[in-house]
Amino acid sequence: MPRPLSATIHTAALANNLAVARRRAPNSKIWAVVKANAYGHGLARAFPGLRATDGFGLLDLEEAAKLRELGWAGPILLLEGFFRPTDIDVIDRYSLTTVVHSDEQMRMLEMARLSKPVNIQLKMNSGMNRLGYTPEKFRPAWERARACAGIGQITLMTHFSDADSERGVAEQVATFERGAQGIAGARSLANSAATLWHPSTHFDWVRPGIILYGASPSGLTAAIEGTGLQPAMTLASELIAVQTLAEGQTIGYGSTFVARKTTRIGVVACGYADGYPRVAPEGTPVMVDGVLTRIVGRVSMDMLTVDLTPCQNAGVGSRVELWGANVPIDDVARACGTIGYELMCAVAQRVPVRAE
Ligand SMILES: *Cc1c(COP(=O)(O)O)cnc(C)c1O
Repeated sequence: MPRPLSATIHTAALANNLAVARRRAPNSKIWAVVKANAYGHGLARAFPGLRATDGFGLLDLEEAAKLRELGWAGPILLLEGFFRPTDIDVIDRYSLTTVVHSDEQMRMLEMARLSKPVNIQLKMNSGMNRLGYTPEKFRPAWERARACAGIGQITLMTHFSDADSERGVAEQVATFERGAQGIAGARSLANSAATLWHPSTHFDWVRPGIILYGASPSGLTAAIEGTGLQPAMTLASELIAVQTLAEGQTIGYGSTFVARKTTRIGVVACGYADGYPRVAPEGTPVMVDGVLTRIVGRVSMDMLTVDLTPCQNAGVGSRVELWGANVPIDDVARACGTIGYELMCAVAQRVPVRAE
């Protein structure tokens, strides 16, 4: 018997979430963002649920090749562009669309020998200050791209830093408009947060990632209530032991939890080597035998421990949901001081994953 821990990917939830994105941006095409192995869900496993998209956005050439092997003939966008001249051979072979955010990339394209022109997304730095041409350098870059025989269609693109928070997108949109003024061509601005909350930024292509997996762009579960998004991953395990602590007894490394009264504790087959965060504090939500309860004691490499006080009927073999439909991944993440994105991307290799 393998350990009872596994992750389940819900194909119907992925398809539902893509449909939610479409309803939010009905006049835009969608780049379904599947970087980082489809946010930890597995590219091949996520593909069937997302194949109604217009294109896929990702980072690795290997992932792009894999999508072609899976039979995807539509657009694939390299969200960071490429890194070496030899990458352009792969772009050419697999007919990929690439971001161009720097003169170094532009120069590589100018020098490249291609079988056909490459479609690009010319990236503006509108305030995120990671990648892209400044608004002042954007028009010259566009003119240079237009003059390059190796470049086909040019889409204008930028990325938001605060679409999920108070600051919003107004400043960046204004900067983008200033830099892109008078330049014709399709536009691509919106990530998940902007797809949900800033309809004026939808334009020709939106680029949702996290909402396809049913989690919140802001890391707050309440923020996506009523959107119809469904969690695409369930991480579940079982109790493999039950301990009854007497008052004053402790559990696990560091003895961080001290029983104030006689307390039943469940031991779950899931630890930080599975990707469950070691920093998860006492009180982090978890569901045991259909009842919500909390983590107690320190998460160890292969196990974690839970308070069975509210779970009267739980015993060895009881089902444990670490996150999923009943325990929102963002609630677990929030207890750990992070966001759902990080947890789903961190599910470890040793966790068996199946799609349903
Ligand atoms: C990751 C990424 C996205 C998707 O972001 P979400 O917040 O997951 O929607 C969109 N655009 C670019 C350029 C990205 O790198």
